[in-house]
Amino acid sequence: MITGYHPSGDSADLDRLTSLLGSGNLVVLTGAGISAESGIPTFRGKEGYWVAGSREYQPQEMATHAMFARDPAAVWAWYLYRRSLCRHAAPNPGHRALVDLERLLGDRFRLVTQNVDGLHIRAGNSPARTYQIHGSIEHTRCAVACSREIWPLPEELGLDRQRGQTIAADEAAALRCPRCGGWARPHVLWFDEYYDEEYYRFDSSIRAAASTDVLLVLGTSGATNLPLQMGQYAVRTGALIVDVNIEENPFSRMALANGGEFLQGKCGEVLPAIAERLGQSRELQEPPGPSR
Ligand code: NAD
Repeated sequence: MITGYHPSGDSADLDRLTSLLGSGNLVVLTGAGISAESGIPTFRGKEGYWVAGSREYQPQEMATHAMFARDPAAVWAWYLYRRSLCRHAAPNPGHRALVDLERLLGDRFRLVTQNVDGLHIRAGNSPARTYQIHGSIEHTRCAVACSREIWPLPEELGLDRQRGQTIAADEAAALRCPRCGGWARPHVLWFDEYYDEEYYRFDSSIRAAASTDVLLVLGTSGATNLPLQMGQYAVRTGALIVDVNIEENPFSRMALANGGEFLQGKCGEVLPAIAERLGQSRELQEPPGPSR
């Protein structure tokens, strides 16, 4: 285990990673921790909570189909507030380092993100190689699935929302399905729902984890199902697991129990060091260019 990681310090811990990535595949799995340095709160901070009516709800209660069925306006108020935070945030050095890694590795790179904030795509990772397994806060779809269509949230909903601000009547009218007129819902995976391939790239993510040489896990508490399954596939196939987090978590324990690495530190400090090291590596083979 490497604790108190300093990018300028001894980087022997990165040797195995860069050597494997000379010709191997990399799957990166990100969680809310990578966006924390952009000012987007994780679910575990105080900002995650939300007051609806006279009660304070935890994210694990708000982000559910059951809560939406009970009080769609309260759930939308929470999502619009979070969307406003995401719109005002910018990608940080951690996001940008992942763009460098994709540029270096080409089609040997896949990014699986639990984040709904869209910052990876805004930083420059390619949408085709980025699987947003919990959806996107910028998109919506029919709550009763009268069609499978996904569409962007209307801009006019206002992007400067205050914490606790409720939904006005004209805003509620804009949050309707254009086909059936019922409520639209956020295009995100709720805690009481299941992954699928069509919306959330379940199969693609499992396939990527089962055929990777390195699984790089960044800033996640490991509380959701697909990420943990990806870790188990990586263990079974003997991939190197590298976890970057400011705290110990299920992935750091999984990494250490299986000969991997726990780089304890902030994504925004550790990832640029990894990208720089890989960029300097003589073992790195050129990613294949487009076929002619
Ligand atoms: P989480 O809030 O449960 O855990 C965050 C993790 O990040 C913790 O392990 C914490 O120690 C670590 N962390 C915090 N700052 C860090 C930093 N600078 N560098 C490295 N690690 C850091 O988040 P989760 O595991 O992603 O899962 C919760 C759910 O929350 C997911 O479903 C996700 O969709 C949703 N979520 C998304 C966003 C977003 O889109 N930015 C924000 C909050 C929650």
